[in-house]
Amino acid sequence: MEIIACPECDLLQRLPELPPGGKARCARCGATVASRSTDPFDRPLALTIAALIALVVANTAPLMSLSAVGRSASTTIVGGVIDMWLQGEQITAVIVAFCAVIAPASYVLFMLTVLLAMRRPPAPHWVAELLRWADSMRPWSMNEVMMLGILVALIKIAELATVDAGVGMYAVGALVILFPAIMVSFDPDEIWQRVEWADGSLPPFARGGK
Ligand SMILES: [Zn+2]
Repeated sequence: MEIIACPECDLLQRLPELPPGGKARCARCGATVASRSTDPFDRPLALTIAALIALVVANTAPLMSLSAVGRSASTTIVGGVIDMWLQGEQITAVIVAFCAVIAPASYVLFMLTVLLAMRRPPAPHWVAELLRWADSMRPWSMNEVMMLGILVALIKIAELATVDAGVGMYAVGALVILFPAIMVSFDPDEIWQRVEWADGSLPPFARGGK
């Protein structure tokens, strides 16, 4: 039995054992205070592996190719960042590199490590640290902003040159869907219950009780 505070009204209450797929509502304000996923580990893991594959494709395959007056060019995200740097837009290049490459890659890698480490409870204490890092990386990975930027650029440039969307762009599109899907299927509570405590003691879950 766990005591939790309602995220809306702060009422402390005891959380009963929830069945898979079950939800608990606050006794005072009715807000959902806890929910148990039917598949807390395999589904987010599958989505995270899919995101990792999409991320590799998004960063290695060309985003789009341009052709005008008999010349053609194509570029990847990293290629775009390097071009921006070389053209004197260093600050923009760093921001794009962080939001389009480093933050999404870190988020996926942290999540993958957490979900793999979870498969053999009790999870080591560093998993908690990774979970916090993944949380702080998530707002910075702006795949949807990048997708919007690419689409605007596509439409704008299409007036001047022939533009073909590359494989990389479809991969970015897949990431835009996969990232929220990971967040929805992932339940940090399930992870916290399995993490070793700061003093090195086993979590109640592994001790056979709640
Ligand atoms: Zn409440």
